[in-house]
Amino acid sequence: MAVTSSISLETRILDLPNRGSFGLGPLLARKLAGGIAEISTGKDLNSVTVEDLLLYLPMRYEDRSSFASIRDLQDGQLASLDLTVRFAKPRYIGRSRFIFSVSASDQNDTGPQVLIEWFVSGSRAKQIIEYHTNRFVRGTRFIAFGKWQLGKLGIYSLKINKPDELEVISDTEGNGDPALSAIHVGRCVPVYRKTSDIRPKQLREILHRVLKELPDSAIAETLTVDLRQRQKLIPRPTALNEIHFPSDEVSLSDYENARSPAHRRLIFEELFWLALGLSAKRGKRIKESKSAKIKIDDALKKRIASVLPFKLTEAQRRVVKEIFRDMKSDALMNRLLQGDVGSGKTIVALIAMLTAMENGYQTALMVPTEILAEQHARNLKRILAKSPYRIELLSGSMKSGDKKRLHQAIAAGEVHAVVGTHALIQEAVKFEKLGLVVIDEQHRFGVMQRAELRSRGMNPDVLVMTATPIPRSLAMTVYGDLDVSIIDEMPPGRTPIVTKIYADNADDRKQVKQLLANEVRAGRQVYVVYPLVEESEKMDLRDATRRYEYLRDKVFPRFSVGLLHGRMKPEEKDEVMRHFVSGEIQILVSTTVIEVGVDVPNASVMVIEHAERFGLSQLHQLRGRVGRGAKQSYCVLLASDKQTDVARERLGIMEETNDGFKIAEKDLEIRGPGEIMGTRQAGVPEFRVANLVRDLDILQAARKEAEFYFNQSNKSPEAAKLIRRVQDDARMKLAAVG
Ligand code: ADP
Ligand code: MG
Repeated sequence: MAVTSSISLETRILDLPNRGSFGLGPLLARKLAGGIAEISTGKDLNSVTVEDLLLYLPMRYEDRSSFASIRDLQDGQLASLDLTVRFAKPRYIGRSRFIFSVSASDQNDTGPQVLIEWFVSGSRAKQIIEYHTNRFVRGTRFIAFGKWQLGKLGIYSLKINKPDELEVISDTEGNGDPALSAIHVGRCVPVYRKTSDIRPKQLREILHRVLKELPDSAIAETLTVDLRQRQKLIPRPTALNEIHFPSDEVSLSDYENARSPAHRRLIFEELFWLALGLSAKRGKRIKESKSAKIKIDDALKKRIASVLPFKLTEAQRRVVKEIFRDMKSDALMNRLLQGDVGSGKTIVALIAMLTAMENGYQTALMVPTEILAEQHARNLKRILAKSPYRIELLSGSMKSGDKKRLHQAIAAGEVHAVVGTHALIQEAVKFEKLGLVVIDEQHRFGVMQRAELRSRGMNPDVLVMTATPIPRSLAMTVYGDLDVSIIDEMPPGRTPIVTKIYADNADDRKQVKQLLANEVRAGRQVYVVYPLVEESEKMDLRDATRRYEYLRDKVFPRFSVGLLHGRMKPEEKDEVMRHFVSGEIQILVSTTVIEVGVDVPNASVMVIEHAERFGLSQLHQLRGRVGRGAKQSYCVLLASDKQTDVARERLGIMEETNDGFKIAEKDLEIRGPGEIMGTRQAGVPEFRVANLVRDLDILQAARKEAEFYFNQSNKSPEAAKLIRRVQDDARMKLAAVG
């Protein structure tokens, strides 16, 4: 078999050593494939291709088209210098720690010197020093980039973390590949994050070779000409070349901010495929017409208004309108209702349910816990007490006879609204005429629910509600086939929660204790949340179980203290919650199980220990358990003193704002999409070039184009081809989740 065939995008990295004139050894190829596999999900080392490698983008760029000279350096200047080693030596600073320093001057220059220094330590220090001494012998040419600091003796020095940051170009005799120097100097060069032991410089060489061996004609254009023209997108081969080796005249800051034409092209492409897949999915749903026929006239609106216990906020009114529009339409409703904790989603759900019932349909409300189910059932019954509708709680703890009777009543259409947990679907309850399902606290359920409903032969309108505000960009991708409504206004009469960070020391703890005691004496209730259920050997953290005992026996012996965590049996949990709701428990020590939905308006303080260990969205969710009445509430964040500046700044956001959307945006920025949604399986796609925080504008453009193409697909063969490709594309498996 001839091994000289040229490479293509599909060539496996492991096959590179056998292709063309490729000078990459089998070992290095393995290392490289492994490194790329690590960062591209769903790939193993054997399936990593040249295309995957090309999508491993530089983390920054350096302009080496012209180098600074030592004479012109300014204190603190960020610059590349093209240098020659004068001498290099280690300096012992104690306890097998050394500073290795290289003294160097400009190319062919006997003028001023600079000093480059780094630490060497550990048991292998001797060998490492030997290696560096050999690497930086007198006369070796290398490049150093960084922030140059003027020292006492008028000498500029550069302190680096690892000598990898220096690039040796040739040895003293000028041995070295001249072609290679053309890669590393005299141009804008890409700097890659080190991956599996492959040095950034090596990666640059490999990518340069791959691009040289890969003819432009081997990189197929994937977007149509008119789409590219409309969006001003450069061709794919150009983009892949430019993104690694930018031409000289470009603006490097555009590259660093991922706003170069090359970046825009590749990001657009990635987001466009996702958006097209989601459009196709949504289109399929809209075609499936529903059986429920809902009429909404003024008389019905009046009847509904007459039972509402309060005046709707402007935001609630807007959202109700959006829901009415969906319910009246022939297409199935699949709407996500987002609203911060306490924004009043329940009443909106109730209006939707009432509308379906008035039209002769049954409805179901699903919530994540039994406690919440009880709470909702109680509220619904109270508000609809004078209506003719029968509302029932389907509870896991019902006696089997009662349950059977209830199932029968539901199947006979005698029950108009059923409230329950997920068991509502699992127990295969049969409805006579189910028109609407409301799913509360969606983020606890995951997104598979709808599929599950359908698989059980139900195809009602669906309204999902979540109090975990999802940034717009995420909602568009994760819930891309859902329509989104947002309640962005709180009901009147709320006093904003006061949030304060306390340090983990005796003084601060005393203050917190005082606050808790005062509130409890004033008749209020308190939550204290810990990250762990029990003592852990791995983590030196306070845990709920031991702290519960301590708080109960030592700190607040006169108050009644309760414990709640996820390892308790459901009945035990319900029991504790009931005691808290009734006020018998004054201080509830807990883990994050209390995160969801419970409404105890009398609770006024939320204490969170080891706050730095929680995500911002989670902290916000926990904080939402208080502040549900008109009186002042507090959120106390106890944080370790040892945290980093980033962690401190992160927690600071909690003090600054009560706006869940702002917090979610920050969280997305800091921790990425997977973390926010809580679980991987929530269907958050992983991106290779796009970044949801940074690229919201491109996402919007891509979505618009995707809609356009989707709507064209029955008229234009070209658009139809695109859609087909998306549907075939294995990559779309991700977007097909949910
Ligand atoms: P969430 O969005 O967190 O589910 P709820 O629906 O539980 O919020 O509402 C929080 C509280 O606000 C409830 O006690 C509810 O009765 C009250 N509420 C909701 N809407 C209004 C309104 N428009 N005016 C006054 N109170 C309201
Ligand atoms: Mg709620």
